[in-house]
Amino acid sequence: MQIYLNGKFVPKEKAVISVFDHGLLYGDGVFEGIRAYNGRVFKLEEHLDRLYRSARAIVLDMKMSKNELQEVVLQTLRVNNLKDAYIRLIVTRGEGDLGLDPLKCPKPSVIIIADKIALYPETCYSKGLAISTVCTRRNSPQAMSPNIKSLNYLNNILAKIEAIQAKVSEAIMLNLEGYVAECTGDNVFYIRDGGLVTPPHAAGALDGITRRCVIEMAKAQGRRVEEKLFTPFDLFTADEVFLTGTAAEVVPVVCVDTRTIGDGRPGPITKELIQSFRDLTAREGVLI
Ligand code: PMP
Repeated sequence: MQIYLNGKFVPKEKAVISVFDHGLLYGDGVFEGIRAYNGRVFKLEEHLDRLYRSARAIVLDMKMSKNELQEVVLQTLRVNNLKDAYIRLIVTRGEGDLGLDPLKCPKPSVIIIADKIALYPETCYSKGLAISTVCTRRNSPQAMSPNIKSLNYLNNILAKIEAIQAKVSEAIMLNLEGYVAECTGDNVFYIRDGGLVTPPHAAGALDGITRRCVIEMAKAQGRRVEEKLFTPFDLFTADEVFLTGTAAEVVPVVCVDTRTIGDGRPGPITKELIQSFRDLTAREGVLI
């Protein structure tokens, strides 16, 4: 496996960075998770736009144009001969001293890892997931915007630990006011009376690329889509619940906090959206 690291391709064993890199010392950096399907990179432009927005928000000068970065993402896939892949694009603040000061880090570290995608088992899609609300609250958007996709995932990791200990697949994270924000690595939707509802960004939800695709697809199918605040009560009493994310795609949820959702099987609208999303990933994307 060849990793792109600061302008060069190096074998995995030699892809190492300094212990003074602020990505390691402080989680100071940004990243993207991107998928390639059958020789095309899905929504590459949107992922790069989000990465550059995250970088801008933390005053990190990428020192590389979007076009240059797009080209090295594609090259990483070519060098590794990958047509279906998960791509992790990481930009850290770079090497500095032990202090917090990011101005002492003159050059960001750019890392691109492309690997075979570890797909979720098909049973997740055919039978649906069980998930639970956890005690760990989502970072307040007033303290830290959920739209900065930063390397500091400790908030989500604490929630993930609770999900693992509760033996469920994902954790629903509430914000400080008790409204549903998102899951540890996925956005959340519920369906009632044929309409979709998902939390707004102000609730603490990342501007997910898959979330956007689903909103667009549902609207194109003539469905009502609302971004509004809601509590776990709305999930318990929903007709259908599903999660969205680059790795998970669209995945049904059939159990929330031990309560059965709908009739306990993935619902018809979720199934339709899973199919529409698969069709979209099969036909759209930047050619490798
Ligand atoms: N929320 C969080 C916290 C995430 O890490 C992710 C995955 N990147 C998502 C939502 C889903 O976003 P996307 O559809 O862009 O992968």
